[in-house]
Amino acid sequence: MEPGEDCCVKVAVHIRPLIGDERLQGCKDCVTVIPGKPQVQIGTHSFTFDHVYGSTGSSPSAMFEECVAPLVDGLFQGYNATVLAYGQTGSGKTYTMGTGFKDSSQSGLIPQVMNALFSKIETLKHQTEFQLHVSFIEILKEEVRDLLDPSSVSKSETANGHTGKVPVPGKPPIQIRETSNGVITLAGSTEIGVRTLKEMAACLEQGSLSRATGSTNMNNQSSRSHAIFTITLEQMNKLNSAFPGDSGLSESMSEEYLCAKLHLVDLAGSERAKRTGSDGLRFKEGVHINKGLLALGNVISALGDEKKRKEGVHVPYRDSKLTRLLQDSLGGNSRTVMIACISPADINAEETLNTLKYANRAR
Ligand code: ADP
Ligand code: MG
Repeated sequence: MEPGEDCCVKVAVHIRPLIGDERLQGCKDCVTVIPGKPQVQIGTHSFTFDHVYGSTGSSPSAMFEECVAPLVDGLFQGYNATVLAYGQTGSGKTYTMGTGFKDSSQSGLIPQVMNALFSKIETLKHQTEFQLHVSFIEILKEEVRDLLDPSSVSKSETANGHTGKVPVPGKPPIQIRETSNGVITLAGSTEIGVRTLKEMAACLEQGSLSRATGSTNMNNQSSRSHAIFTITLEQMNKLNSAFPGDSGLSESMSEEYLCAKLHLVDLAGSERAKRTGSDGLRFKEGVHINKGLLALGNVISALGDEKKRKEGVHVPYRDSKLTRLLQDSLGGNSRTVMIACISPADINAEETLNTLKYANRAR
């Protein structure tokens, strides 16, 4: 896919295997993949996507190579990109992205992105100067939390229900801002400059741990928040003139600056509010999360609809913090991949069908 092509959103499905719990419950596999086709069947429903992974014999790195590696390459040409993992809680989003602290599996997409990024930098560094920054934030209840904030302190559950890492009092909340040329920034969030793969991996681990710590204190908080790991790549090309002996001074040296970012998003669980509990507080959270996922669905479907785009239909980025934050990295020249994560178990059939419908709408 080249930037600027009509289809700016690619959709892949990742089917995880039945896990221990499901086997113990005697669950049956209810998802069928049509051999050799990116097509998934559940009950009487059939869906076709750009790619389907996980069932029979797809290699572990195929998803990275086909869906994400082109986005990493695009960064070096200055194109922003977003990778989104969507699906119900337990469907494999964190496993797919590699944002889990414990099973921070090397097979996750983020570790593979880091590897690819640093090997590419290695091959280019003689002609180009690079600067890398990462941020790692979480959106919960329409509030942005900094997962890399060094000054945040861990607190156990408090009376008002706020738990986990809380900002030091007096620290202003993180705000999403737009510059005059349409660049979205996160004012007040920690941006860590990294030079090596090891340093970047440490940021991923620290933020993942911070997120996991929050979730042990409050009933599985991480399933209700969107976690966004962002890599910003700045580069300065120093292209020497072909004729270094020429008399021109500054003309013999042309400099080119590019800046692009890649958002890697482990979305909140897509299961519906009714499943998240009956008390008022929890319901409110459910509503807010649905707000982000709902807005995302609307934005992506507006972007994917060529007819709508030509008519200049409004893309509702401002409807949630999530879409606002991703605004300059969804649509336009940027590339987007949505990975719909599903469980094959029959007890999850209803949510799996919902996920496939949502993902289908994105195409
Ligand atoms: P989510 O983030 O969507 O809630 P997780 O990534 O935590 O889901 O996955 C739920 C469970 O399933 C975890 O125990 C995880 O290790 C396991 N799992 C997920 N995807 C896979 C996979 N592709 N292969 C093997 N186990 C997986
Ligand atoms: Mg998760």
